[in-house]
Amino acid sequence: MRLNNKTAIITGAGSGIGRTIALLFSGEGVKVVVADWSEKNGQETADMIKKQGGSAVFVKTDVSKAEDVAKMADVCLKEFGRIDILVNNAGIVKMGPLHETSEDDWDAVLNVNLKSVFLSCKKVIPEMLKQGKGKIVNIASVAGLVGFENTGPYCASKGGIIALTREMALEYAKNKINVNCIAPGVIKTAMTKDMLADTAAKSGFEAQTPYPRLGEPEDIAQAALYLASDESDFTTGEVLVVDGGWTIR
Ligand code: NAP
Repeated sequence: MRLNNKTAIITGAGSGIGRTIALLFSGEGVKVVVADWSEKNGQETADMIKKQGGSAVFVKTDVSKAEDVAKMADVCLKEFGRIDILVNNAGIVKMGPLHETSEDDWDAVLNVNLKSVFLSCKKVIPEMLKQGKGKIVNIASVAGLVGFENTGPYCASKGGIIALTREMALEYAKNKINVNCIAPGVIKTAMTKDMLADTAAKSGFEAQTPYPRLGEPEDIAQAALYLASDESDFTTGEVLVVDGGWTIR
């Protein structure tokens, strides 16, 4: 096992990429705090982990709320005694032209996708400093690196995650806290279900992806496993693009 007896908080672990990371990490010996605002989905992930013989606890968490994030970290410490890994994965998208985007939608996306990373890191880093080591993996997007039409707040939030990742990596490298992010391309999850149901859009993405398929949550989970493991100790502030070559065209 690559992460035996480590503990991890994984946000948005009730579905898609977050759930897949939680299950993969658990199989590698990690005790997992499943943080999600959906009680049903989050509890289901925790139950799946227990069913495969792992340890997990679900904490109902809205990652954009400081009090929820504090509870999420407190439960991890109470149940498992330490916080080795933090995966900031929860995210939402609101589609539409920028000039038609409401202020409420802008705030919602920025709060859930970007402010949440600040809130959880603010809470978890003091524990990692005490422990003398830690791994933070932020889930950004290729939309933070290149233009992606009709997703203004989303692009801004993901670009913000990439910038914040670099800043935190610089600030905490001396404390052996690694901060990296992953920039996934199009991955088959609930978030992209509607977009990929449009066969023309799906074929368009497939045609633009050099590797001959679209991404699966497992592709991102394997990248997260590397960034959470000791094998990546000398890697920090990095943006690991996992997109089948979509951005190298
Ligand atoms: P997903 O299946 O929709 O998973 C996102 C999870 O986060 C859901 O369980 C969602 O709950 C939860 N969540 C949303 N807002 C939350 C909040 N305020 N507090 C706590 N949990 C919250 O989508 P996914 O594709 O796995 O996305 C995971 C991450 O990957 C996101 O950051 C996304 O931006 C990023 N990403 C995805 C793709 C892609 O193509 N799928 C590409 C690039 C980056 P509900 O379902 O109940 O809302």
